[in-house]
Amino acid sequence: MANIHTQYKKTIYRVLKDPFTRTALRRAVESFRKNRDRALEAFPYVKEEAKKLIETKNQVIDNFDYYIEKTMKVVESMHAIPYYAEDADEALDIMKKIVGTGKTIVKAKSITSEELFMNEKLEEWGNEVFETDLGEFIVQLLKSRPMHILAPAVNIPREKVAEIFSQFSGEELPPDPPRLARFAREFLREKFFNADIGISGGNAITADTGTIFLIENEGNIRLATSAPPVHIAVIGIEKILPSLKDGMRLLEVVSRYAGYLAMSYVSLISGPSKTGDIEKVVVYGAHGPKELHVILLNNGRKEAAKDPVVKQALRCLRCGACMYECPVYPLTTGYWGYKYMGGIGIPWTAYITGGFEKAAPMAFTCTMCGRCVKYCPMEIDTPKITERVREILNEKGLIPPYIEELARNVIEKGVPY
Ligand code: SF4
Ligand code: SF4
Repeated sequence: MANIHTQYKKTIYRVLKDPFTRTALRRAVESFRKNRDRALEAFPYVKEEAKKLIETKNQVIDNFDYYIEKTMKVVESMHAIPYYAEDADEALDIMKKIVGTGKTIVKAKSITSEELFMNEKLEEWGNEVFETDLGEFIVQLLKSRPMHILAPAVNIPREKVAEIFSQFSGEELPPDPPRLARFAREFLREKFFNADIGISGGNAITADTGTIFLIENEGNIRLATSAPPVHIAVIGIEKILPSLKDGMRLLEVVSRYAGYLAMSYVSLISGPSKTGDIEKVVVYGAHGPKELHVILLNNGRKEAAKDPVVKQALRCLRCGACMYECPVYPLTTGYWGYKYMGGIGIPWTAYITGGFEKAAPMAFTCTMCGRCVKYCPMEIDTPKITERVREILNEKGLIPPYIEELARNVIEKGVPY
């Protein structure tokens, strides 16, 4: 356990001194806040919509089994293939059977796939994987990991991106964002159309129509889920919503709180591509995928739902709004985290991926200031959840040694040091 803490402290101190991270985050925070305020001002009713969505999300979290069964049935009725994975191993077994080996795979951004270490596994099984979101593509080339749930390369300034792309292409590319985006577009275009499989997550899946919601700006998700002949969607069970109407509400709430007046693309996928244009004979696989596999993943979500305080974390929409308001996140970025990051990443690390040991130093990085609560559309009380996680850490004997030392000093000397 001591190693986890030493390593974590070392990483955090290193990133605190990194001027590139500060520059990139200062730019990102300023522009995010401006955009979010503008979006909420233009659509003031969204705050009310968010409140309704909280009720809906709670209803699903309190009745997971019912909604999982309902969603599986409707997905099947739409000629897609549903699966339920109890944990990461089961999800990977399912993936392995579908994917096999020797395939080219294009991936849309998905933190759920990070949770499964999916890229590493796909490559281990002998496949070639390309991340297609620009930020994820940068992170993949850098052999790093996403540093924000929405903007994975938020901590990487343009100069660094130019350096990475230049090395990769063998061509001298300038630190000019449009030129760098064009390079990624040209490189990835051919991959979309030659890939065997496209893998995505999902912002939501509806239990009445089996519709997967995918919200994006780049257009890569649309290509990755429609150009290859097979689409696999891996979706956490907390993303289930009762109805298509709820999905539409989520779309508005996520977009506005993520700072957009409108997202460029919204894909609603209900089953594989089909046509009945020749003598009304239904043929699957017209222009889009012939096969759609939907894996619903538990992996600790049901366990988190049992705790009356922690369960609210499952309402998270991954809009990222909390991170841009947090006093700690802009200094630490995703290094304050494991797969899930920032304050909201604490319960997700403890219950979903990583475990309580990995969540322990994270829980004591949060200042409990509560700024994130004010800006969260789902009214998730992160400091309260953090307090609860700290309580459990104490019960499990997993309090970081330096915290115990601080506490001892306060008790004995009245000062922390
Ligand atoms: S905790 Fe709230 S603000 Fe943060 S990403 Fe989740 S829904 Fe958005
Ligand atoms: S309570 Fe924690 S996660 Fe929330 S804004 Fe403060 S430091 Fe950040």
